[in-house]
Amino acid sequence: MPGKLSLDELKAAVAAGEIDTVLAAQVDMQGRLMGKRFQAEFFLESAVEETHACNYLLTVDMEMEPVPGYRSASWEKGYGDHVLKPDLGTLRRVPWLPGTALVICDTLDHHTHELIPHAPRSVLKRQVARLEAMGMRAMAATELEFYLFRDSFEQAHAKGYRGLEPVSPYNEDYHIFQTSKEEEVMRAIRLGLNGADVPVENSKGEAWAGQEEINIRYADALTMADRHVVVKNGIKEIAWSKGHAATFMAKYDYEAAGSSSHVHQSLWSHEGQPLFHDPSAEHGMSALMRNYLAGLLTHATEFTLFLAPNINSYKRFMVGTFAPTKAVWSTDNRTAGYRICGLDTRAVRVECRVGGADLNPYLAIAAQLAAGIAGIEAKLDLEAPFSGDAYHGEGREIPRTLRDATAALDGSAMLRAAMGDDVVDHYVHAAKWEQFEYDRRVTDWEIARGFERS
Ligand code: ADP
Repeated sequence: MPGKLSLDELKAAVAAGEIDTVLAAQVDMQGRLMGKRFQAEFFLESAVEETHACNYLLTVDMEMEPVPGYRSASWEKGYGDHVLKPDLGTLRRVPWLPGTALVICDTLDHHTHELIPHAPRSVLKRQVARLEAMGMRAMAATELEFYLFRDSFEQAHAKGYRGLEPVSPYNEDYHIFQTSKEEEVMRAIRLGLNGADVPVENSKGEAWAGQEEINIRYADALTMADRHVVVKNGIKEIAWSKGHAATFMAKYDYEAAGSSSHVHQSLWSHEGQPLFHDPSAEHGMSALMRNYLAGLLTHATEFTLFLAPNINSYKRFMVGTFAPTKAVWSTDNRTAGYRICGLDTRAVRVECRVGGADLNPYLAIAAQLAAGIAGIEAKLDLEAPFSGDAYHGEGREIPRTLRDATAALDGSAMLRAAMGDDVVDHYVHAAKWEQFEYDRRVTDWEIARGFERS
């Protein structure tokens, strides 16, 4: 892939004066890249082995508030450092930033140099390792939807993120003409990402004014999660450089469609055989795939928090909007939370449609792998597929609130066994803080409704 860099290629590019800056970044709980910009020579001299950051980075909320009450880091413990260990397999050029390369880092304990269990990359690595031990590899793709605006980030901020003008004046789902008008940004995004070791399949207009979708080629689960965070950060940087704001909020406006991140998943043997495919079975779905999907459905409520981690995420689950409200499965039916794609082909796979564009891909994929493994281990039977309009049918409801999803995660024996109690407790605490912060705020909605008339 263009843009992938070996360490030797980085050294040569630095020597040639082509690269002068290396970004070394970990991923935080919100799925954001957090780290430092290294002078390239110093990166090669030192940070290539390891660097460090304040360990509050795995306790902060969206606002960088050092949230109290975590066991791993606190004022009492003095907020020390943790180690950022570059994963050199993720080293890549960042074509849209001059002279710049990026490496994603694992987060290690400062004293033991062990992976910090609740760091998102560690959480996913743990489930990937479980599958490896079972002789399987998970392949995944996380589609991303987002909104693009005529306003810049600076203008949007100055307007309080209200009254923004989307790049298109109308619903541009699949539109070629409208998306041609957006090519100055979208083409730069596709080409930029492709030049950063992120193979783009396509971009398209999505189902509201200003809404876009980008599809990236599927890969093993960890590589895909790494691509996802590079894509999100890259889209914001490229949009910003061209004077546009972009948002990945699950629901930025009550009237507008929500933005999702559908997660495609399949299991393969180490020899590259698609284990979800059985040509002789119904829809080409193997018994293993049926067990895996049954695991997803059985535990769907418990891992919702990892697909919808914010207060805002739950505003997206609305009837008749293409965002699902039921955790049921179906073949080629976009009203169901789980859809089977690639029926009767080697590419047969599960598409989970529940997650919002605000999900953390490492956690979302890890939680689903854990549920799938539970389904395989228990050889769970798959219920009958749903047909018809799932919005108005019977079936397992997706939790409607962060509060309900938090309680379901807290009570999940499956996720506690798969991820570890400390990891589950960590994310339950993060969710409770998000809820606490929201509960005491006065919203625009309350003021508009009550100020004069109550
Ligand atoms: P949609 O109509 O939902 O956009 P696409 O056909 O565009 O579906 O595919 C969506 C994603 O699925 C792409 O990112 C693609 O790389 C990925 N994908 C294709 N085959 C597999 C597979 N076997 N396992 C996981 N993901 C896959």
